[in-house]
Amino acid sequence: MRGTPVGVLLLTTAVAVTALAAAVVGLTVPAHPPPDDPLPGFVRFGVAVVAFAVAQLARLRFRTASGMVSITWGEAALVVCLYLVPAGWLPAAALLGTGAAWTAMSLVADRRPALELVRIAGSLSAATALAAGVASALGQPLLAAPTPELALALTAGAVAYLLASAWLGGAGLALLHGIPIGPPLLAALRGKLLMFVGNVAVGLVVVTLLELDPRWLLLLPPPLWLLQQTYRHRLRADQERRTWRAFAEATAALNQLDERGVATAAVTGALTLFGAELVEVDVARGDGRWRRYRADTGAQVRDREVEPPSATGSGEHELVRRLAVGSAEVGQLRVRFPRSDPPTARERDGVAAFGDALAAALHDAATHRELRLVTARSSYEAVHDQLTGLLNRAALLAKGDQALRQRAHDHPVALLLLDINQFKEVNDTLGHAAGDQLLRLAANRLATMTRPGDLLGRLGGDEFALLLTTVPVVDDRAAPLAYALRQAREIAERLAAPTEVAGVRMSVEVAVGVVVADAGTADLTELLRRADIAMYQAKEGGGSVAAYDSSRDAASTDHLALLAELREALEADDQLVLALQPAVDLATGAPTGVEALIRWRHPRRGWLGPADFIRPVENSEQLGTFTRYVLNKALAVAAGWAREGLDIPISVNLSARSLLDPRLPAEIGEALRRHQVPPHRLVLEITETVVMSELEVIDEVLATLRAMGVQLAVDDFGTGFSSLTFLTRIAVDELKVDRSFVIRMADSPEAAAIVRTTVGLAHELGLRVVAEGVETAEQRIALAELGCTAAQGYHFFKPMPADKIGAVLGSLLDTARGNVLPLRADGAS
Ligand code: C2E
Ligand code: CA
Ligand code: CA
Repeated sequence: MRGTPVGVLLLTTAVAVTALAAAVVGLTVPAHPPPDDPLPGFVRFGVAVVAFAVAQLARLRFRTASGMVSITWGEAALVVCLYLVPAGWLPAAALLGTGAAWTAMSLVADRRPALELVRIAGSLSAATALAAGVASALGQPLLAAPTPELALALTAGAVAYLLASAWLGGAGLALLHGIPIGPPLLAALRGKLLMFVGNVAVGLVVVTLLELDPRWLLLLPPPLWLLQQTYRHRLRADQERRTWRAFAEATAALNQLDERGVATAAVTGALTLFGAELVEVDVARGDGRWRRYRADTGAQVRDREVEPPSATGSGEHELVRRLAVGSAEVGQLRVRFPRSDPPTARERDGVAAFGDALAAALHDAATHRELRLVTARSSYEAVHDQLTGLLNRAALLAKGDQALRQRAHDHPVALLLLDINQFKEVNDTLGHAAGDQLLRLAANRLATMTRPGDLLGRLGGDEFALLLTTVPVVDDRAAPLAYALRQAREIAERLAAPTEVAGVRMSVEVAVGVVVADAGTADLTELLRRADIAMYQAKEGGGSVAAYDSSRDAASTDHLALLAELREALEADDQLVLALQPAVDLATGAPTGVEALIRWRHPRRGWLGPADFIRPVENSEQLGTFTRYVLNKALAVAAGWAREGLDIPISVNLSARSLLDPRLPAEIGEALRRHQVPPHRLVLEITETVVMSELEVIDEVLATLRAMGVQLAVDDFGTGFSSLTFLTRIAVDELKVDRSFVIRMADSPEAAAIVRTTVGLAHELGLRVVAEGVETAEQRIALAELGCTAAQGYHFFKPMPADKIGAVLGSLLDTARGNVLPLRADGAS
C-alpha cells in the first residue's frame, strides 16, 4: 500500500499534541467539585471515561465517496459529562475513553493502523477540549440544575464539538486521499444532523433526570435503543439513496463509444462508488491483446498493455469480476477495498452489477469500433473499385462533375475512355484470375501516367476513364484536342508493353475514345457518352485512338437500350441480317468460302455493324439466342446454295463465350440436320485467344465439333498473344491472317515475315490460309508472292446481301473454271 501522506502525519501529530496538552493542563487546573460530593473524584472521572467510550462503541458507520464516516453518540456523552465532571477533566477522559473504544473496535472489527487510532482519539479529545471551553465560558454546567441558559451553553459546547470533530475527521480523510476537504465534511455534517439534535436532546434529558432522581435513568435504555434504530434506519436510507444516485451516475458515465472513455469512466466511477483503494479494468481487445486501465485513490488513470489475466478469485478485500457479454469475454474488473472497510454483501452485489454494466459498455464500444471500421471500409469500397483500387463509376462521375464545376466555364478538359481489346477473350479463355490480373496491370500502368488533378477510374468490365483537367490553355482552339490525342496515344503505347499474364505473354491493347470540351458545357455523363462513341469508332476503325466526332453521334447507341431492342430484333426476324463476303483463291479467283457477317437493320438507328452491338450482346444473356440465330440464318443460306449445286462452305463467327457452353455441338448438329447441310460445309471462325486457351470445356467443345466434321478456322491470326503450340493441340482447318498484317505488309518487314511464316506453317500442317482485308491489287500481288493462296477483302468483294451472293458465286465459279480450263474457254469463244 502507499505510505502515509505527510499531511496526515502532521495532522496526527498536531491533534495528539493538542489533546495531550489539553488533558494535562485540564487535569492540573484546580477543579471545583461541590464540597459535599458523595462520589470520590476518580469515580466521576471513570464514569466520564466510560461515557465517552460507550458513545463511540455505539457508533453508526456509513461509506461516503471519500471513505467511511462514523457517527457516534459523542455529543450526548459530552453534555452528560459536562454535568458530571469538572470541565477541565474532560479532555483527558475523552482521550482515554475514545482511545480505548477505537482500539477495541480496531482489534475486533476493522484493524486500523495505530496512527489512525491516535489521530481519531486525538481529534475527539481536542474537539472535547474546545467544547468544554465553549460550554464553561457560557455557563457553569457542573452539577447545575438545568436552566434554559445552561441548556444553551451545553448546546453551544455540543455544536463546537460537532464542528471540530467533523472538521478534523474530514481533514484526515482529505489528506489521506488527497482530495478537497469540502465533500467529506459536508457528507459527515449532513449524515450527522439528525443524530446531533437527538444527541443533544438525550444529553439534556439525562442531565435533567439526574437532577430530578437518577433512578429515572433506568427507564432510558428502551427509548435510547429506539433512537439508535431510527438513526440507523435513517442513515441507511440516506446511504441507499446516495449509493443509487452514485451508481446511476457511474454507470451513465460508462455510456461512451470508445474503449478508453468507457474504461477510464469505469475506473474513476468504481473508485468513488465503492470508496475503493484501487480499481483495475482489464479490456480484452479483439486481437487477443489485453489493456489494463488502473488507478488508485486520487491518482490519474493509467493504461498499459498486459498479459491476459489469469483466473484469480475475489479475496476478502478485493473483488474480481470477469466481464462477459453472452459467451464473449470482454474484460475483467478488479476492485480493492481498504483493509479497514472490507466490502459488505451489498457492495459485492454492487460490484457485480457495476461489472455487468461495464461489460455491456465495453462490448458496445468494441462493436462500435468494429462498425466504424466497417463503415470506413465500405465507404472506401463505395467509392473505389475493389479490384484495382481506382475510383469506381459512381465516384468518378461525382468527383468528375465536381472537378468540372471548379473550372472556369471555358476551361478545356478532356476525357479519355479506354477499353481493352480482346479482354473478353482473355477472361473467358484464360480464366477470371487472368482477367483480373490483366485489369490490375492496366490499372497500375494507368495510375503511373496520371498527373495530379487528373481523375482515373474504372467504369466496370475492361473500361477505364481518365479525366484530364490539366489541359494546357493556349489560344489555338485545336490545341486541347491535339494534346488529348497525344496523351491517349502515349497511354495506349505504354499499356501495350508486353507482359505475362497467367503464363501467357500478351500485351494490353486498348481502344481509346477521346473527347474534349469546355468545362462548363457538359457534365461527366455526357462526356462519357461522347467518349464512348469515340471509343467504338476507334475499335471499328481498327486503330487505337479516335476523337469524338459529333456527326457520328446520332448513329451511336446506348448499350442497355440496345439489348432490349435486340430481344425484339431476335423475335422480329427481319432486322438482323447476314452480309456475305466471299474469299477467293488468289490463283484462280474461285470462291474458297463465304463469311457470314451480321448486320442490324435497326428500325430507328439505321444500319448497325457488329462493332455497334456485338460486345453488349456477348456480355448479356442473349448471346446463346443470338448465336443460334446467326447459325440458323447462315445454314439456311448454305442450304440454298446446295439446292443450286454450289459446293461452297459458309464461315460463321463465334464469340468466345459461346464455346463455354457444352451444349453448343449438339445444337449445331441439330441445326445442320434441320437444314440438311453436311458438317464440312460449315466453318466456325474462332479468335486466336480462344483456341489457345486451355480450358477443358472449350477443348471438349472444339474436339466434338471437329469430330462431327465441322471445320474450324482461327480468326485474326497473328494478333493473339500466343505461341503456336496450340496448333498441335487443337486441330483446325484454316488460318485467317489478320487484316493489320495485310495493311502493314508493304512497308513492314515484320508484318511480311509473319504472313510468310504463317503461310509456311499452314502448308506444313496442311491448313488453308486466308488473308483478310485485302483492299488493293498490290496487296493481292504481294500476298501471292508470299505464297498465300486465298484472300478476302473489299478488293474482291464487300460483304453483300444474301440475295446477291448466289449470282456472284455462280459467276466466280464460271470465271474460275474459265481460268483453270482455258481450252474450254477458248473453245467456247
Ligand atoms: P472479322 O471476323 O475479322 O470480320 C472481318 C471484318 O472485316 C468484317 O467487319 C468485314 O466487313 C471487314 N472487312 C472485310 N474486308 C475488308 C477490307 O478489305 N477492308 C476493311 N477495312 N474491312 C474489311 P464487320 O462485318 O464489321 O465485322 C467485324 C467483326 O465482328 C468481325 O471481324 C467478327 O469478329 C465480328 N462479327 C461479325 N459477324 C459476327 C457474328 O455473326 N457473330 C459474332 N460473334 N461476331 C461477328
Ligand atoms: Ca471472321
Ligand atoms: Ca478477322
